[in-house]
Amino acid sequence: MSTPAAAAGGPTGLIVAECFGVDQPTFQGEGPSCGCPALFIRLSRCNLTCDWCDTKETWDWSRYDPRAVSKRMSVADLHTWALSSPVELVVVTGGEPLIQQEKLIPLVEGLLAAGKRIEFETNGTFVPDPVLLVDGVRFNVSPKLANSGVAEERRIVPAALEAFAASGQAAFKFVTRTVAELDEISTLVDRYGLDPVYVMPEGTTPEALIETTRVLADAVAARRWHLTQRLHVLAFPNPRGR
Ligand code: SF4
Repeated sequence: MSTPAAAAGGPTGLIVAECFGVDQPTFQGEGPSCGCPALFIRLSRCNLTCDWCDTKETWDWSRYDPRAVSKRMSVADLHTWALSSPVELVVVTGGEPLIQQEKLIPLVEGLLAAGKRIEFETNGTFVPDPVLLVDGVRFNVSPKLANSGVAEERRIVPAALEAFAASGQAAFKFVTRTVAELDEISTLVDRYGLDPVYVMPEGTTPEALIETTRVLADAVAARRWHLTQRLHVLAFPNPRGR
């Protein structure tokens, strides 16, 4: 994926890590649309550095060469790619996709006009552009907890969480390891009015997910929150690019 920028979208293109779901169909694996057929556009770059991040190729340049693991793609090329599939749902993920939200606006507008619907997977540290708060666009906002190893002032941006909460177009998904962390979620929920809440076990293997799900399930149910999974990890032997 080391195509020179000039030949693959130019400096105005989006910085993309991978696109998948057309040649090898797959599902949205997490959140409110878990289990729905979906296409994925994974954008490169992130403003956070979560310890357990499973897409470090989008930002950890101590391990990865950005020229080898990302490329620029034009809005037109991404549009053509997504329209080559009949699947309606396009998930724009990362990394942190809203780093590039200005350049995403024409892509989102084009995909909506073509009958697609969009879900953003975001860490909730960028205030969404009002242009993106339209029918057909949803945000799966995943504020990071202390278990991420990221300082609170970097991972919690009140203005962004308040904007998502007020939008009525966001669900709030928390990567969770322990029952004790539900109190931390509750504090954020109360402070910023976050609703609905989805708790998702942290883990990159089916065994880890099942173990943590069983740790969390009763306590999540008792709070009347949603419990979600990482379906791609459970469903596919190699979940990369699925
Ligand atoms: Fe990884 Fe998401 Fe954390 Fe960024 S916000 S470091 S992509 S888990």
